[in-house]
Amino acid sequence: MSYMEILTLGNECLKQKALPVEKIGPEYIKIAEDLLNALYEGEGIGLAGPQVGLRERIFAIHVQGDSPRIFINPSIIETSQETEKFEEGCLSIPGTYTNVERPRAVKVQAWNEKGKPFTIEAEGLVARVILHEYDHLEGILFIDRISEQKRNRLLEKYEKIASKSKESKKKP
Ligand code: ZN
Repeated sequence: MSYMEILTLGNECLKQKALPVEKIGPEYIKIAEDLLNALYEGEGIGLAGPQVGLRERIFAIHVQGDSPRIFINPSIIETSQETEKFEEGCLSIPGTYTNVERPRAVKVQAWNEKGKPFTIEAEGLVARVILHEYDHLEGILFIDRISEQKRNRLLEKYEKIASKSKESKKKP
């Protein structure tokens, strides 16, 4: 069970830049586990600290066919010139999906939950998830990467979904 609650659109935490982790102590093993559990409960493929109210530069990803990975203090070393459009969603904006253009490949350096540094070169969906989660650390959401017109349409739809789910939560 996860003790982390996923924050949704409108929460200020999602718009703030996350701070670097100063020391990756043993507590990060538990934080990583909680983050992954929240990710699985939400049935997502990536979840970043700010989405659960943790203002630290940490995110978890688990793309099918790949192992779960924790990124702490990640830095993007390189992105491909070539871009790709693909449908994205976000656990913080449930029920909304749209095509987002991003680099097709990325090279990232980070530390894992045990404090071990690593570098990963990824492409396709894994690269996309890494870039989406990295954006969260900068206070950027995927809807900030689409046109204003598309964003407004998406937000209208989201408001309808969000108000419906609030109503159903009111029922005993
Ligand atoms: Zn997201």
